[in-house]
Amino acid sequence: MKYKAKNALLEVVGLLLFATLRADASTTVTLNGSACPVDAVITRDVCVIGGGASGTYAAIRLSDLGKSVVVVEQQDRLGGHTQTYTDPVTGGHIDYGVEDWHNLPVVLDFFARLNVSLVTQSNSVYGTSQYYDFSTGKSVPGYSAGDPTPGLTAYAAQLAANYSYLEEGFGGIPYPVPSDLLLPFGEFVIKYSLQSVVSLIFSVSQGLGNLLAQPTLYVFKSFGLGIIQGFEEGYLTTAANDNSLLYEHAYAELEPNVLLNSTILLVNRSSPNEANVLVSNPSGQTLLKCGKLVFAIPPKLNNLEGWDLSLSELSLFGQFTNSAYYTAIVRNSGLPSNITFVNVSPNTIYQIPKLPGIYEISPTGITGLLNVKFGSSQTLPDSEVQQQILSTIANLQVAGKTPGVPSLAVYSSHAPFELAVSPSAIAAGFYKELYALQGQRNTYYTGAAFHTQDSSLLWQFTEALLPSITDS
Ligand SMILES: Cc1cc2nc3c(=O)[nH]c(=O)nc-3n(C[C@H](O)[C@H](O)[C@H](O)COP(=O)(O)OP(=O)(O)OC[C@H]3O[C@@H](n4cnc5c(N)ncnc54)[C@H](O)[C@@H]3O)c2cc1C
Repeated sequence: MKYKAKNALLEVVGLLLFATLRADASTTVTLNGSACPVDAVITRDVCVIGGGASGTYAAIRLSDLGKSVVVVEQQDRLGGHTQTYTDPVTGGHIDYGVEDWHNLPVVLDFFARLNVSLVTQSNSVYGTSQYYDFSTGKSVPGYSAGDPTPGLTAYAAQLAANYSYLEEGFGGIPYPVPSDLLLPFGEFVIKYSLQSVVSLIFSVSQGLGNLLAQPTLYVFKSFGLGIIQGFEEGYLTTAANDNSLLYEHAYAELEPNVLLNSTILLVNRSSPNEANVLVSNPSGQTLLKCGKLVFAIPPKLNNLEGWDLSLSELSLFGQFTNSAYYTAIVRNSGLPSNITFVNVSPNTIYQIPKLPGIYEISPTGITGLLNVKFGSSQTLPDSEVQQQILSTIANLQVAGKTPGVPSLAVYSSHAPFELAVSPSAIAAGFYKELYALQGQRNTYYTGAAFHTQDSSLLWQFTEALLPSITDS
């Protein structure tokens, strides 16, 4: 209620702001009784909010289709979860966010368009795996992940026979929703004897939070047919071992139509033909007059301050909960640089560890630097995650470990990560209503909450959305 009241107030303030703008189309507007400078006005066919995987793709494709665009991004770079660390000593690159893509036409076309070369990914950098209980620091002798094949085969058969529409998004879900999609994944595993594939899914679908408690729908979305196909065909990565190149090239093309380090102050979509967005960035306040909006940011209410949310948007976005995913590159760990340390628990079902905690610590190809992936079923303070990462590594009792005090070369929070709603909301038609927002109030929605945490599939999803943006 509090948020609703605040938004209603913002809407009134927004109307005042834009009414004043029309009256005085110069450099100052009155916002809630205070003079509010507007340093620039930019008019574009489409304003893209969020310059991560989906937003960058939308911006490049829409400009290729002849639309004028501007991208609003809160970070100092494009790329979202794609992050690359450049080691100051060796000059080598480590992709510690997005690592790879599917071998799909949309991927090949996008990389060719931005002149970035791809190769088939090799997993040789990860070395051999050793299994430790990270909660005690001790090795788990005799642990074996086992052969996932029987479970994987049965899981893939379920997907192929009944749920292949999930590869395209949530739009194909039939109603009533199949009850298996609503089962906690742990129950689905037992129902179909999928036990042998659980640890594989846990390690591939990192970031999902409590895997066994997630509705099966979200596990299918995350670990779908395309992912399974990729095990056979291989995944693609950049030949330069620098995945940020894609977004650097996109930035070079889109600039000066990218507003980095930008905060959205106000969004007003009350006009039938235009959306107005007031943005603050280091060069001042800019008013964007947009024919259409592409919404490509996480739709959590605390990320939408200043938006004139409709009652439907408020109700739908307000239902999302999220898991959290964190990454770091650690130096001075004392651990060997050619072994992946995997967190397993001798005391849990399927021996998957309890979160919050580290999934694994893996080699990076650069001696002395290790890649850490950490998960939680909810957002945690960064200081707590960092402390847990460092203390867990310090506590690992690995034979031959050299003494030293580990430190973070770089750390990144990817929270909120997976956005999910309750099984009852899914059954009640949440995704039907979510998709019904498309095009309303000149706003077109893309991004992981509307499909899945997978850049390649999000580019496909965004591509399919383009005709409705360009045609209307
Ligand atoms: C560690 C990690 C590894 C991954 N590995 C892979 C992989 O190997 N392959 C793969 O396909 N996918 C991978 N993913 C998933 C992939 O990153 C996501 O599916 C994809 O980035 C989601 O795209 P998006 O456009 O929804 O969000 P993002 O790429 O996160 O983009 C959202 C953008 O919006 C910006 N933003 C957010 N809020 C605001 C705001 N209020 N105002 C302005 N800007 C805002 C953000 O800064 C960000 O740049 C990985 C994710 C993580 C975290």
